[in-house]
Amino acid sequence: MTGAGERGGAEVPPLDDHRPGATTRRLVAYRAALAEEIARAGRSVADVHLIAVTKYHSAALAAELVAAGQLDLGENTLQGLRGKLAEPGLEAVRWHFLGRLQRNKATAVARVATCIHSIDRPELVDHLDRVELDRPVDAFVQVSLDGDPTRGGVAVAGLEPLAERVAASRHLRLRGIMAVAPVGADADAAFARVRELAEVVRGVDPAATAISAGMSSDWRAAVRHGATHLRIGTAITGVPETHR
Ligand SMILES: *Cc1c(COP(=O)(O)O)cnc(C)c1O
Repeated sequence: MTGAGERGGAEVPPLDDHRPGATTRRLVAYRAALAEEIARAGRSVADVHLIAVTKYHSAALAAELVAAGQLDLGENTLQGLRGKLAEPGLEAVRWHFLGRLQRNKATAVARVATCIHSIDRPELVDHLDRVELDRPVDAFVQVSLDGDPTRGGVAVAGLEPLAERVAASRHLRLRGIMAVAPVGADADAAFARVRELAEVVRGVDPAATAISAGMSSDWRAAVRHGATHLRIGTAITGVPETHR
């Protein structure tokens, strides 16, 4: 997507601009566009949390976001997390893990992440219950809207039992539901469905009201349909230099 917040004459840097300051300007423009969309939806900015996804980007880019006040950052691999954890300037980051989680990496991820958005099977929860963690970890149960197993997420039929398993876990704190709109799907229809399915999770724990939905290409629809946690990469960070 382009021009997340082109208004008032302020130029938003193109997505291939990685000069110092470009990401900050995209972030500021994105936040402005987001605030407008939230207002248009009749919602409150306090109810919508922005996670800037830094995957495939450098620690320096992440540090630029932190300096601009963006402390919630997302990565989708353990390797990506580890590459940034030790970097100066990133100590205060709240890391969100968004990717498919392999069992043998789950403990390492849980030790460093504030929140895992991709809990998609009970075995992961069983595994984490057997290890020692010194603090609770926020968790979203990821639902698959199209049943495509390569993209992660539990089938709709498995959503309620999985949410119950997370709610009963030792270390995970059930926050809500997460979903990715299927490729080529109508985003409004997809996120309307997510909002319905959020009620299944809320039925398990009345406090688990959060909805993690919306990426660079479909976040406006997600805001319209009640998303509380947006996971925005490209619109803020630009296109990764390795992916151009
Ligand atoms: C990469 C990723 C995002 C961000 O994607 P963009 O299209 O770059 O905004 C969000 N959620 C998940 C699960 C991701 O893997």
